[in-house]
Amino acid sequence: MIIVRTIKEMQEAKKGLSGSIGFVPTMGALHQGHLSLIQQAKKENDHLIVSIFVNPTQFLEGEDLDAYPRREEADIKICEVAGVDIVFMPAIGQMYEKDELCIGAPAIRGYILEGEKRPGHFDGMLQVVMKLLNLSGATRAYFGKKDAQQLVLIAQMVKNYFMDVQIIPCEIVRDEKGLALSSRNVYLSAEEKERALCLSRALKRASKMVMAGELAVSVIRKEMRTVLDEADKVEYVAIVDRAFNALEEIEIGNTIILVAAWVGKPRLIDNIWI
Ligand code: AMP
Repeated sequence: MIIVRTIKEMQEAKKGLSGSIGFVPTMGALHQGHLSLIQQAKKENDHLIVSIFVNPTQFLEGEDLDAYPRREEADIKICEVAGVDIVFMPAIGQMYEKDELCIGAPAIRGYILEGEKRPGHFDGMLQVVMKLLNLSGATRAYFGKKDAQQLVLIAQMVKNYFMDVQIIPCEIVRDEKGLALSSRNVYLSAEEKERALCLSRALKRASKMVMAGELAVSVIRKEMRTVLDEADKVEYVAIVDRAFNALEEIEIGNTIILVAAWVGKPRLIDNIWI
């Protein structure tokens, strides 16, 4: 495994690869969720690149950019054991210059839900993902369904800009109680961790209602809100189709149910694909 910190080194390292390249972009503090993406990419490709970069342009003023968990040494070990070929860990100065050309998230899908609560977040996310996809030369790039809106927007960017890379959606990894793994879970106290389970519980309740034949979005959202009572603040409960258009009725096979809520310090998101 080689660790690469500059653009030049990355471009050089890539030249030596023949065959398919699997790529997993991350912000580090790697957990089992990241690892599942890495393992899938390892299985499906000849070479494996993981990037670790806490991207400043996707954090809004006042968000946790400085406090975002960083665990470089542990992350490198995890990548080594997982059989990663190249770990790309650039400094901010390698990735950006002043007065850059920018990519904008789509006006509607990029500014609802996460995009409404965090305006500009998806612009910065797409900007860095475009750079990373170009640099890595990925054949396939792996993204978690955990960040559903992010995943859908990246797939749209690849389609709209005719990029030659396959976007592979990966299942959400949860702990034994159902909490979706996230680097931000380290901020949760034991008591908050228990309460944080209300997000996955609300999603489970919704899926049970659908299985029992309830398809009305307003009824399901109302019921989910009662389960989410344990959160400190619920930001949204949304039911959309796979292109993030609002729905009045669940469409089996084409629906995503999403929640965002604050529990203690972190803002948590979770979703289920129906
Ligand atoms: P991050 O480091 O938070 O930017 O995440 C890097 C990638 O890992 C993204 O594609 C996330 O969607 C994915 N990811 C994060 N948590 C999970 C999880 N619990 N299950 C599956 N994928 C995840």
